Amino acid sequence: MRLGALEAGGTKMVCAIGDESGKIYEQVSIPTETPEITMPKLISYFEERKIEALGIGCFGPIDPDKKSETYGYITSTPKLAWADYNIVGTMEKSLMIPVGFDTDVNGSVLGEVTFGQAKGKKCVVYVTIGTGVGAGIYIEGKLLHGMLHPEAGHILLSKREDDTYEGKCPYHKTCLEGLAAGPAIQERWGKRAADLKDDERVWDLEAYYIAQALVDYILILSPQMIILGGGVMHQEQLFPKIRSYVKKMMNGYIKTKEMADLDHYIVPASLHDDQGIMGALELGRRALMKEE
Ligand code: ADP
Ligand code: ZN
Repeated sequence: MRLGALEAGGTKMVCAIGDESGKIYEQVSIPTETPEITMPKLISYFEERKIEALGIGCFGPIDPDKKSETYGYITSTPKLAWADYNIVGTMEKSLMIPVGFDTDVNGSVLGEVTFGQAKGKKCVVYVTIGTGVGAGIYIEGKLLHGMLHPEAGHILLSKREDDTYEGKCPYHKTCLEGLAAGPAIQERWGKRAADLKDDERVWDLEAYYIAQALVDYILILSPQMIILGGGVMHQEQLFPKIRSYVKKMMNGYIKTKEMADLDHYIVPASLHDDQGIMGALELGRRALMKEE
C-alpha cells in the first residue's frame, strides 16, 4: 500500500509517504500558515505522490465523530485561521481517496501500539509535553473518543506549596498544561526550558506535576504502559524523577507487576519522534481498509 501521512501541528505540517508496515519513504515539513496558503501546498505534495489513502493526526480540538455534521473539522482552536476548518473534507475532495482522521496524540498512541514498544498492549496512554500538553488514549484495543476526545492535558492539579507561579492556561490557569508545558516553564523560570537543563529545581517541580497527572491517569484508566513524548521530555533526567514521585504518590495502593517495575511502565516514546507520523500512516491504512 502506498499511504500518505500528515501530522498537522500549530507550527508545522509534517507530510510523509510510507506503507502499512510503518516504513517511511520520504518526509517533509511545511510551515503552518493560514489554510489558504498551507492547504494547496499539502494537496499538491500528496497529489504528486499518488497515494491510495491519507491519514491525518491533527491538532485540536477536532471533530472525529463520523456521524457528526462537522466530522473532519478542526473546531474551536485558538489558532483562529484554522477554527471551524473542514480539513478532511478539503483533502477528500481534492485527492479523491479515503482519509483517516484523529487527534495528533491519538495518532501517536496508535503509532506506538501498532509499530512501537506498546505493540500487543490493549490499554496505553501517550502524553506529549511540548508547547501544550495532550494525551492519546488507547483503551480496550480502541482509540478513545467518547463525547469529543480526551483533553487530558487540562486536568486540574494541586499546586505545590513552594510554587508561586500563577499558571498559564487561559481556561484553568493551573491545569497540567498551565503548570508544566514548555511555555509555563519558560514563564515561571524566565528562561527557555531547553536552557534550564542544569537547574535541579526546575525538573523536580516539573516531575512533581507530571507525576500528579500520571497518578490520575493510572487510577482512572488502568493503562498497561504510559509513554511520554514532546519537546520537554527531551530532558531525560525527568524520567527517574517522575517515576519516583509516582511511586510516592501512589503509596503502594496498586500492586501489579507494572507498578513494581516503573522503569518499563513510564517510558519515553520509542519511534524516534516518528510515532505521530507512523500513527497517521496507520490511520490511512484503516481508512483504506474501512476498519474502525
Ligand atoms: P509542539 O508541542 O509545538 O508540537 P514540541 O513537542 O517540540 O513541539 O514542544 C515545544 C516545546 O518544548 C517548547 O515550549 C520548548 O520550550 C520545549 N522544548 C523543546 N526542546 C526542549 C528541550 N530539549 N528541553 C526542554 N524543553 C524543550
Ligand atoms: Zn487548561
